[in-house]
Amino acid sequence: MNNKPDRPLALKEIAPILDKMRRYHDDLDEALVKKAYRYAKKAHQGQKRLSGDPAFTHEVVVADILADWRLDTASVVAGLLHDVVEDTNKTVTNVEKHFGEEIAELVGGLTRVGQIRLRGSESDGFVENLRKMFLAMSKDLRVVIVKLADRYHNMLTLEYLPEDKQVGIAQETLEVFASLAERLGMGEVKGQLEDLAFPYCYPEEYEELIEYAQPYYKKAEDRIEKVKREILRALAAEGLRVRIDGRAKHLYSLWRKLARPEKDGDIEKIHDLMALRIITKKKEDCYLALGVVHKIWQLVPRLGVRDFIAQSKPNGYQSIHTNVFLADGQIIEIQIRTEEMHEQAEHGVAAHWYYSQAKSRQGASSAELEEGKIFAPQEKMTWVQQLAAWQDEIVDSQDFIESVKFDALKHRIFVFSPKGDAYDLPEGATPIDFAYQIHTELGNQVVGAKVDGQMVSLDHELSNGEVVELLIDRKRKGPSANWLDFVVTRLARRKIKKNLRR
Ligand code: MN
Repeated sequence: MNNKPDRPLALKEIAPILDKMRRYHDDLDEALVKKAYRYAKKAHQGQKRLSGDPAFTHEVVVADILADWRLDTASVVAGLLHDVVEDTNKTVTNVEKHFGEEIAELVGGLTRVGQIRLRGSESDGFVENLRKMFLAMSKDLRVVIVKLADRYHNMLTLEYLPEDKQVGIAQETLEVFASLAERLGMGEVKGQLEDLAFPYCYPEEYEELIEYAQPYYKKAEDRIEKVKREILRALAAEGLRVRIDGRAKHLYSLWRKLARPEKDGDIEKIHDLMALRIITKKKEDCYLALGVVHKIWQLVPRLGVRDFIAQSKPNGYQSIHTNVFLADGQIIEIQIRTEEMHEQAEHGVAAHWYYSQAKSRQGASSAELEEGKIFAPQEKMTWVQQLAAWQDEIVDSQDFIESVKFDALKHRIFVFSPKGDAYDLPEGATPIDFAYQIHTELGNQVVGAKVDGQMVSLDHELSNGEVVELLIDRKRKGPSANWLDFVVTRLARRKIKKNLRR
């Protein structure tokens, strides 16, 4: 029942990563990856992680995770370099000199998002805002993905951190990172992040659930073995070649499901403790397999079939789910999908790089496209519309990468108070807009502003990620009329006018 991934917690070598990358990358620039490895290793020399491992092993594992997700070379290189600006004396300019603009931008983005303080949630709106801010500051979706790999490894080694820090990090992982993974369709990553955070956030509930669920998982596992053999036999008789993937349901997601009113905490009402997945080569085979399954076992009327192939979920998830009665009366959920749908369900947006590369390599025909060899354009995501860009048809990988360079919310910026509180402002906002956003009195008393420690004029245009410190004079009576020439928020304009009238 434990989904703990079998991944090295510390990795010192680049060779296994290059091996992985070669498998999905025809014209891999090995020299570039090796150069990044040497560069980062040298920069991090002498540093240690709290686990006692040399600091640099972390960066190598992050790169390894990215290679597992089959990310492009720039992302893997950025994985190796992701902490050099933050933790060593290297600057983004240094990185650009050695690795070019694209990689420097990724590393810059990683450094920016690394500085966001994602505090505990106060309201749903706040958490949602953080997620948006995170995306807006990332600019390029690959930054988010590298950050997810980074967080994933940090969660795997969380036990080495001081106890007082563990809960906060785990909470942030649940609220922000797992949900970002979900929005990006990276279902497996989401499940793993949640399971890693679960025991830190809800230790008692976690213990209780393990004790309660263990025997049921065991039974489900035994059952799945039998079912698997039966399905393979029946499908082979129809001439269908498939692969079957059986995996235990993630614990956190089980816990959440048990909390639903209709489940009433009863594990007997959960039918997907072990997810049984029939993975086919072609889309048509999914429907053939569904027919075969229904010939062997009776469909559970109430639960029925849900066809997320005909109508995919908003995050791009595709699969057919069916619930059937086994011979012993037990209900089991079976999911049917193609290899590509499976890959996407596990790796979401990250899978696109692989398939966009695969396509440019083999020149997939449009017929293959329709067969689901490459993800078909799907319904647009409602959440932050621009995210839909990654689901659009991919012409080649370069185009795809361009399309996911994230310009969602490009008309919004996020700036910080010196305490690290985040504020969301329109593009072109000035320290005056910022001041009125916080408090009217503050706006009325501003006499100067510092941005990232440097004095700026009051009409200075703020940019993403800047820390804004306001200098105030409590004796100041009110705003200046000329502020109206440059403020951009309606709020500031209104308050200034109101105070001028007085
Ligand atoms: Mn890191």
